Amino acid sequence: MSFASLGLSDPILQAVTANGYDTPTPIQAQAIPAIIEGKDVMGAAQTGTGKTAGFTLPILERLSQGERAKSNHIRALILTPTRELAAQVHESVITYGKHLSLSSAVVFGGVKINPQMMKLRRGVDILVATPGRLLDLHNQNAVNFSQVEVLVLDEADRMLDMGFIHDIKKILAKLPTKRQNLLFSATFSNDIRSLAKGMVNNPVEISVSPRNTTVELVEQLVHPVDKAQKSALLTQLIQEGDWHQVLVFTRTKHGANKLAKQLDSRGIRSAAIHGNKSQAARTKALLEFKNGQTPVLVATDIAARGLDIEQLPHVVNFDLPNVPEDYVHRIGRTGRAGASGQAVSLVSADEVKLLSGIEKLIQQVLTRKLIDGFEPNHSVPETRLSANPVSNKPKKAKVWNNGGGRSGGGNRSQGNQRSGNTNVNGNSGNNSPRAKQASG
Ligand code: AMP
Repeated sequence: MSFASLGLSDPILQAVTANGYDTPTPIQAQAIPAIIEGKDVMGAAQTGTGKTAGFTLPILERLSQGERAKSNHIRALILTPTRELAAQVHESVITYGKHLSLSSAVVFGGVKINPQMMKLRRGVDILVATPGRLLDLHNQNAVNFSQVEVLVLDEADRMLDMGFIHDIKKILAKLPTKRQNLLFSATFSNDIRSLAKGMVNNPVEISVSPRNTTVELVEQLVHPVDKAQKSALLTQLIQEGDWHQVLVFTRTKHGANKLAKQLDSRGIRSAAIHGNKSQAARTKALLEFKNGQTPVLVATDIAARGLDIEQLPHVVNFDLPNVPEDYVHRIGRTGRAGASGQAVSLVSADEVKLLSGIEKLIQQVLTRKLIDGFEPNHSVPETRLSANPVSNKPKKAKVWNNGGGRSGGGNRSQGNQRSGNTNVNGNSGNNSPRAKQASG
């Protein structure tokens, strides 16, 4: 299948070709014709599937016909949960729309509002925005929604996780009722469905797997270690493994700052990104990480969400996430585009329950690998997966599943591998916690 067969016109096709794409991804093949036809779409797709072009290209196609935006007006509104994602989506709009005479802008918090107001004064055809700043701009009469033809909610699940539901509802209430609605989300929980109910009309539902087979290609390891030893262990892993590009996840902003400082002081250049950092600092850190100047980027889940960093060789869970689904999002950053990657988790005794939750979600017992000199005082017992897994959230697991080899959600325990001179769990007396763990 070609992009030309999807109903896109020459100026857009030229930009697509110049960008090196020759075949539409599955979500693009399904979404583009439906959106050009003017239908509402609900897409279950995450970063890595090509969803951004999946909605950007047909929006450009539709907007290239019709009247341009009047001053202070906008015609398409794309809402994203984070500033970084907003900036990335806007880059795509510019790239794919470069042979069209449409105007676009991106607005988000953390930077001055005045330049954004100036931009909007002339009117823009496509506005990419985070919800809070958009409402601020609307409250100051800097943007008028009466000309809005298309609304996109990108990463809707994350927007709800981040507490944007009230802002989104306020925005929805201000938009013209006659409009096209496109909703993309990695998962379709009940909350998303109830949001969708009040938003989309008779939508085309599309569900696709990630472009790569993420989970399959990612080597996943757990290094049991005491909490106080984590940063020393990470230092050793980076130095001895000669890792040049590592995305490290911490649970808190404070933890991210502290770790980046510690690594820096040991001669490993690191930067932290999280919600408290200025936009300029976040953009700079991301750029330097992408171009190889800074080998280690320490991030919180929210800051890292949606970042398109291709072919990341190493992802480290310095802390396990509180929400098991975030583990899958995190490791989805490695092994991109068919390249293999490694995801390691440094797990201390207080995180055993979190690990168990993750292993139950992914229906896989992760290999424990002790590192000499870092054996913990407390073991990290294996999770016992039930023979007939009944996940609390089967839908969420499924979305990630269908691209990889975990079809059917079978029990693929591989937690008993031993590698090299390391052993599983290491400590004696590990047999009984297994039973304990299963009940937890
Ligand atoms: P997304 O899921 O929108 O974040 O896109 C993930 C990555 O896939 C981006 O780096 C895109 O540039 C790339 N991409 C999108 N569509 C295609 C395509 N049809 N062929 C090759 N790469 C693509």
